[in-house]
Amino acid sequence: MARVGSERSRPMESMYTPEAEEFRREVKQFLSSELGPDWRGVGSLDAVDARGFVEEWRSRLYKNGLLGLNWPVEYGGQGRSNLEVVVFAEECAKYGVPAGTYSDVLSIKLFGNTLLRWGNEDQKRRFLPRILSGEDRWCQGFSEPDAGSDLAGLRTHAEIVESEWRINGTKIWTSLGHEANWMFLLARTDVNAPKHQGLTFLMCPMHQEGVEVRQIKMMSGKSEFCEVSLSAARTASTNMLGDVGEGWSVTATLLGHERGEDAAVHPILFRQELDRLFQMAAERGKNKDPVIRDGLARCYAKVEVMRFLGYRTLTAMTREGAELGPEASISKLYWSEYHKDVTSLAVSILGPDALVPNGRPPARPVRSDDPGTPNSSASWVGALYNAVAGTIDAGSSEIQRKILSESVLGLPRDGARDAGKS
Ligand SMILES: Cc1cc2nc3c(=O)[nH]c(=O)nc-3n(C[C@H](O)[C@H](O)[C@H](O)COP(=O)(O)OP(=O)(O)OC[C@H]3O[C@@H](n4cnc5c(N)ncnc54)[C@H](O)[C@@H]3O)c2cc1C
Repeated sequence: MARVGSERSRPMESMYTPEAEEFRREVKQFLSSELGPDWRGVGSLDAVDARGFVEEWRSRLYKNGLLGLNWPVEYGGQGRSNLEVVVFAEECAKYGVPAGTYSDVLSIKLFGNTLLRWGNEDQKRRFLPRILSGEDRWCQGFSEPDAGSDLAGLRTHAEIVESEWRINGTKIWTSLGHEANWMFLLARTDVNAPKHQGLTFLMCPMHQEGVEVRQIKMMSGKSEFCEVSLSAARTASTNMLGDVGEGWSVTATLLGHERGEDAAVHPILFRQELDRLFQMAAERGKNKDPVIRDGLARCYAKVEVMRFLGYRTLTAMTREGAELGPEASISKLYWSEYHKDVTSLAVSILGPDALVPNGRPPARPVRSDDPGTPNSSASWVGALYNAVAGTIDAGSSEIQRKILSESVLGLPRDGARDAGKS
C-alpha cells in the first residue's frame, strides 16, 4: 500500500490508548483493502475525477459506519471516543483520502456536534441520522453584508407568526449554500435586548419560496460560496437550538468546533504539502538559493511546532465532555498564517511560471492541498488563493489575535467586545 505521507510526519502513536491503537489497525486494514496498492492520494486524480471520487468515497465511509464515529449509536453513530475520531482522520490523511466531504465539515463537524450538545431528543433523532446518510446538507448562515467579525451586530430578523418563525434578512459568504437543503443561522429575535442576548439559533429549510441563493465567484474562479436572501422564509417554531435569546451561547459551541478540531490532522497534511515543495525546489534548482533555503527551513520548523501544538489541542479534546475554548484560536491562527507563508514561498520558487498557472488546480477550496497533487504551478497558485481565504474564514487572524489577547493573556478589552467570529 502506498503511504502518501513521509514516515517523519507520523505522530507519536505511542501516546494513544491501546483501544485507539487497536482501532488504528482496523482502519489501516480498511483503507488498504479499499484503496489498493497503487493508490497515490486523491490529489493524483484529475480535479473533476477527484470531486467524483470524494462523493463516492463518502458513501463507502457511510456504508462502513465510518462517519459520525463518536456520535451515540441511537443517532446513527458508533459511540467511539474522540481519540478514535482523530485516529481515523490521521490514517485517512496519511493515505491521501478525506475523512468526509467539505459539506461534512459544515454538517457533521459544526452543526451535528453542536446539535448533540444543544438539541432536544426529537431534534437529535430527526436530524442526526439524515446528516450521516447525506440526505441533509447544511450550510452556515452567520455572516451578513454588515456583520462579519462583528457578528453580534447582525440584522437578520425573525419573529413568530402563526406558530412559525418568519425570517427576513441577507446572509453572505455562505459556503456551499447552493448545495445545502438546510441552513443553521443566527437571527435577531429581540431588538430591545443587548445585542448578544437578542439572538436565536434557528434551523431553516432552503428549498422554499422565501429563500433565494446566488453563487459568488471567488478569486480562484470557483463559486463555492453564496449570498442568500431570506424574505419571510418560514420554519417551524420548534426549529431552534437552545432557547429564544440563547443563540450566542450555541454559536460559541459551534465556533469551538470550527476553529480547533483539525489540530492533529493539519500537521500531517501540511507536512505532505511541504515535502512536495522541497521536491519542487530541488527540481528547479532553487534549493541552493540561500533565501529559498531559509524560507524552507522556516516552514519546516513551523510544521514541527504545529505538530506539537496539535498534541496539546488533542489532549484538551480527549478529556470527556471537554469543549475547546479560546485555545482553539491558537491553532486556527497558526495553521492559517503558516499556509499563507508556505504558499507564498512556493510562488517565489515558481517565479514567472506563477503568472501563467498550468496543470492541475486544487480540487478543494480550503486549507492544504490534497495529498498526491502534482507540483503544477496551478496547484500552488490555487493553494495560495485558498490560503488567503483561510486567514479570513472562521474568524480572521486579527480576530483570533484579539480573542487570544483578551481571553488567554488577559489584556484589556478594546471596546468592540463582540468581534467574536467568523
Ligand atoms: C472561504 C470563506 C468561507 C466562508 N464561509 C462562511 C460561511 O459558510 N458562513 C458564514 O456565515 N460566513 C462565512 N465566511 C465569512 C467569514 O466568516 C467572514 O468573512 C469573516 O468573519 C470576516 O468578516 P467580514 O468579511 O465581514 O470582514 P470584516 O469583519 O468587515 O473585517 C474586515 C477587516 O477588518 C478586520 N477587523 C474587523 N474587526 C476588527 C477588530 N475588532 N479588530 C481588528 N481588526 C478587525 C478583519 O480582520 C478584516 O481584516 C466565509 C469566509 C471565507 C473567506
